[in-house]
Amino acid sequence: MASPTRPDPFPDAFGDPFLDLLQGPLATLAAAFVDLPPCIQPMDHAGQRTSASAVLDEVAVRMGGEFPYFHPLYAGQMLKPPHPVARAAYAMAMVLNPNNHARDGGRASSEMEVEAVAEIARMFGWSTHLGHLTSGGTFANLEALWVAGQLAPGKRILASEQAHYTHKRISAVLQMPFTTVAADAAGRMDLNALEDELRRGDVGTVVVTMGTTGLGAVDPLPQILALRGRYGFRIHLDAAYGGYFRLIADQLEAPARASYERMDQADSIVMDPHKHGLQPYGCGCVLFRDPAVGKFYKHDSPYTYFTSDQLHLGEISLECSRAGASAVALWATQRLLPLAVDGEFARGLAASRRAAVELGRRIREDERFAGFPTGPELDIVVWQACGNSVEQKSARAQRIFDASATLNLHLALVQLPEAMFSIRDGLASQTSVTCLRSVLMKPEHENWLEEIWGRLGSATETVLDLDR
Ligand SMILES: *Cc1c(COP(=O)(O)O)cnc(C)c1O
Repeated sequence: MASPTRPDPFPDAFGDPFLDLLQGPLATLAAAFVDLPPCIQPMDHAGQRTSASAVLDEVAVRMGGEFPYFHPLYAGQMLKPPHPVARAAYAMAMVLNPNNHARDGGRASSEMEVEAVAEIARMFGWSTHLGHLTSGGTFANLEALWVAGQLAPGKRILASEQAHYTHKRISAVLQMPFTTVAADAAGRMDLNALEDELRRGDVGTVVVTMGTTGLGAVDPLPQILALRGRYGFRIHLDAAYGGYFRLIADQLEAPARASYERMDQADSIVMDPHKHGLQPYGCGCVLFRDPAVGKFYKHDSPYTYFTSDQLHLGEISLECSRAGASAVALWATQRLLPLAVDGEFARGLAASRRAAVELGRRIREDERFAGFPTGPELDIVVWQACGNSVEQKSARAQRIFDASATLNLHLALVQLPEAMFSIRDGLASQTSVTCLRSVLMKPEHENWLEEIWGRLGSATETVLDLDR
């Protein structure tokens, strides 16, 4: 039997204030419903409380098998713990479990969604927009590309080879022709390759990635906007991961900054509050610059009983039921940490980016590694292990990844074309190599960098020693 006593030391994330935060507000919420006669709750039935607590013990044992995503030594995939205020607001909303499909399902939470989404739109420079939350970035991109297809039926969608893999699949689902555009050595959409496609005259939409998932590369938006002036097409920004960096655009290198500064020129934008925005999963966001695209969503459902003549979010969303709790959590987080360029949230982003830049610098100066020649543009660091061949570098990356994990340092791996690291004759651009990757997206990563660097060094020594 697992001991029920509190382990020492007790990991901070488990002692966080989220449960304490809830006591007073739950009483306030309950007071709004005191007029109702008492009713039996499921847990009042004999024995269920004891059984439920036993089940939760089992859950705790199972969940102990997760990686420690909440800890700064988790520096692998794009995972960031939700803010305690988001967790508390989400948990509180669970008492009611509103459904933001229609105002009948989520009266207050729909209003909170409208307000939270408008704040995101304002961050991108839009005072008017049409938009709403989605279950995630994939569905948000699907809506944006669906609208694009309604406006230009049969025309092609383009995205770079470093764009999120789901664009190709979404286009297939929507039965829209899709073409992959080559990326340059920095992982950004290649403008010559793009223009070659545009000359064919059948492009409806270009997906511009504001921070690729693998490398954090930012496609050259100003130049793509210039091409739009010449060829005429729709621009959809996939900012699922990178959107919030708009707040610290002035701290990015010139090309990325120029792209972020012109985001308001796009036709649609997707951003994921559940990536950088401190939200629990189930929170993406799609925005359209022209509210008139709402007409495409028109439906005539016999199931929706509208009790209000205000806009129903379900009328501008492809999904029907949506978690009202996601909107409540996002609203609470933005209330505490407004999306302001000089705010605490922006400072947190700046800290994680400084951590990434510093890690990138150390790696490039260390002969045990070969750093990615450029960037990081945002907060993703990618590098190779040293080696005499693609096979040796790939094998070592895998072993360093494993050895780091045994030291509780959790990194990620990514496959990239070898040509991105060294342009050498005779090396086919198709040859791919396994690289190490670290997404330093927690503000705390800055203070933990020394510790991360130390553990990465020990893991690397272990691997290289075995080869000596
Ligand atoms: C994560 C991501 C997506 C997919 O979003 P989900 O929320 O995982 O569905 C799409 N595009 C980019 C650039 C992403 O980083």
